[in-house]
Amino acid sequence: MINATPQVVTIAGSDSGGGAGIQADLKTFQARKAFGMSIIVALTSQNTYGVQDSMAIPSAFIEEQLDSLAADFAIGAAKTGMLADVERVETVVKKLKEVDFGPLVVDPVMVAKGGHHLLQSDAVKTINEQLLPLATIVTPNLPEAEVIIGQRIVTDQEMIDAAKKLQDLGTKNVVVKGGHSQNEEAADFVLLASGESFWMSAPRVVTTNTHGTGDTFSACIAAELAKGVELKEAIIIGKKFIQAAISQPIFVGHGHGPTNHWA
Ligand code: PLP
Repeated sequence: MINATPQVVTIAGSDSGGGAGIQADLKTFQARKAFGMSIIVALTSQNTYGVQDSMAIPSAFIEEQLDSLAADFAIGAAKTGMLADVERVETVVKKLKEVDFGPLVVDPVMVAKGGHHLLQSDAVKTINEQLLPLATIVTPNLPEAEVIIGQRIVTDQEMIDAAKKLQDLGTKNVVVKGGHSQNEEAADFVLLASGESFWMSAPRVVTTNTHGTGDTFSACIAAELAKGVELKEAIIIGKKFIQAAISQPIFVGHGHGPTNHWA
């Protein structure tokens, strides 16, 4: 194949409202100029007011979607988002072990901002034990990192300790996102496999357009990895992309609006 176009896949849940999940991922892939594909694990009926309902896709059909893509495309990177429950996490893990989709970005999606559970709580253990060891990078926000390591995270030192604990679970590289902290700066802590670590800081943007921020950030990293960008650079591009996406609001819906994938 001559000069194959960068190809990237998201394995996640659909947001009918277009702001998060599969839809945010595909919009981000498009914005980053990578060809995006999707393996849908769950559906949500959702708008900017929140998630009204959700439904998991039968595992056999998740497997079929993955087989279809593996039989045809040269996928250069993948990301996971909403994985719904133990069964779906195990299905995705089993199938990811059968294929080479390149570097894997795991966004350990748990609860939507409105409170709807996108992952059943007993599936956290399955993610920790089975999915994180497959991940090139994991990108939890503070509440997700707290659930994964089972500890409160308040101070900078606790964020640093949390990243080390996440690495101990088998993920090579970690970003603990500080967007949910009370601080004026939204500082994320990055710990790389090499042991190198750094903070990524950006002024906190006062906005209600934050729906789908985590999905967009991790999708941007996956798109850059599919393009062959080195991981550290991909993480920094992800931070800049999400900062722009929340700084320039778009005006859709009446509730908690999405981020701006054109920014
Ligand atoms: N819906 C789906 C399908 C998602 O994957 C996500 C990702 O986190 C969300 C909703 C979360 O949206 P919010 O950013 O509003 O918490």
